[in-house]
Amino acid sequence: MSSLFTHAMYGFAVGVLFERFPDLRPTKKIGGVALCGLVAGIAPDIDVIPMLLGVPYGSFFGHRGFFHSPFFFLFLAPLLAYLTVLWIGLKERRARAMLTLMVCYFLALMSHSILDALTDGGKGIMLYFPSDSLRHFFSWQPIAVSPMSAQGFLSERGVEVIKSESYFFAPALLLVLTWRMVFRWKFGAIEWSEPDKVEESQSQTT
Ligand SMILES: [Zn+2]
Repeated sequence: MSSLFTHAMYGFAVGVLFERFPDLRPTKKIGGVALCGLVAGIAPDIDVIPMLLGVPYGSFFGHRGFFHSPFFFLFLAPLLAYLTVLWIGLKERRARAMLTLMVCYFLALMSHSILDALTDGGKGIMLYFPSDSLRHFFSWQPIAVSPMSAQGFLSERGVEVIKSESYFFAPALLLVLTWRMVFRWKFGAIEWSEPDKVEESQSQTT
């Protein structure tokens, strides 16, 4: 895998791009969309748990297997979107918000498998399930595969991983900072408020 830091950064960046979509009504909690994107960015690596319990790496449910497939993301993204809508407490335009969040989380999840497919080690990713259950890499593999333990990062390999990932981490960080700056410059600081208060203020002005 790429390191969790890079996966988290890309998931967070996707969340930041979506968090101020008009379909997602202003609420203080909406900042959490970026954090949910971050969680989605690292979520596929949940499959290291079955591996620790004895599921072989190369098996269907092994690391980088079914839980890294875009097919699985088609089910996980709506679930995450539904949980977010419940958390935000949206009462109106829930379907549109769900759809927006589904796209957001699907892209955040996909960023994970794309980054993994760019690494130079381990097994490939089950990118094309159910068409095939084989593991695939991209032909360009510039990212040094990350050690699976914290100790591994203290080795020479760890330094190599950090160096190779910095070329990918930096653009995502830059994207987040630029996007937020552009929004602030174009629309000013947004006074987030809870949905109920928004409804109250709207009814007072009509
Ligand atoms: Zn992974």
